[in-house]
Amino acid sequence: MKTLVLATSNRGKLAEIQPLLAGLDLRLVTQGELGVADAIEDGLSFVENALIKARHACTMTGLPALADDSGLVIDALGGAPGLISAHYAGVHGDSAGNIARVLRELAGVPADKRTARFHSTIVLLRHAADPQPLIAEGSWEGLILDAPRGDRGFGYDPIFFDPALNAGAAELPAEIKNRVSHRGQALAQLRTRLREFR
Ligand code: IMP
Repeated sequence: MKTLVLATSNRGKLAEIQPLLAGLDLRLVTQGELGVADAIEDGLSFVENALIKARHACTMTGLPALADDSGLVIDALGGAPGLISAHYAGVHGDSAGNIARVLRELAGVPADKRTARFHSTIVLLRHAADPQPLIAEGSWEGLILDAPRGDRGFGYDPIFFDPALNAGAAELPAEIKNRVSHRGQALAQLRTRLREFR
């Protein structure tokens, strides 16, 4: 059985990805469990940061590695918060602050100009110098609301509206969000691609 390192210390991510590996003869461990510290994410795009994280995990462990990067991209803000989605208001994981900053910056922007998407990239490197990384991506298109709505989900969910479902992300049951979301799409793609992984 092959072992893959997940380039995170977050066991929540392990729980999310682990079920995908059922029946694939792969075992997943987090880099945190192997004593590997987080990489410095200094890329300029989601895919660059995911590759930086995966390469760091490969280099430090000598094992193949999986890494993901995700965030919210708002057209009227030139793509912000983008790569700094987790700490847009300054403090990592301050969702209320992040939402307040986005709403402030979009004040007065009309509904048809409030287009945005959540994006997720997941990469798998066989080794640190792998020239052909496996890359899975997903995007979830929507609009930024004027005010928070719903009490489910996390992060920017309360201000993200899906016009196709006519619902806010924080109003969706987890099963529905996981089916349509950027991460759900990328994970489904990854599951298919892992069958070709050698
Ligand atoms: P990371 O990929 O764990 O670094 O997440 C980046 C940040 O993007 C998170 O901290 C959230 O602020 C935001 N984000 C990513 N996915 C979602 C989502 O599904 N809902 C709401 N916010 C999200």
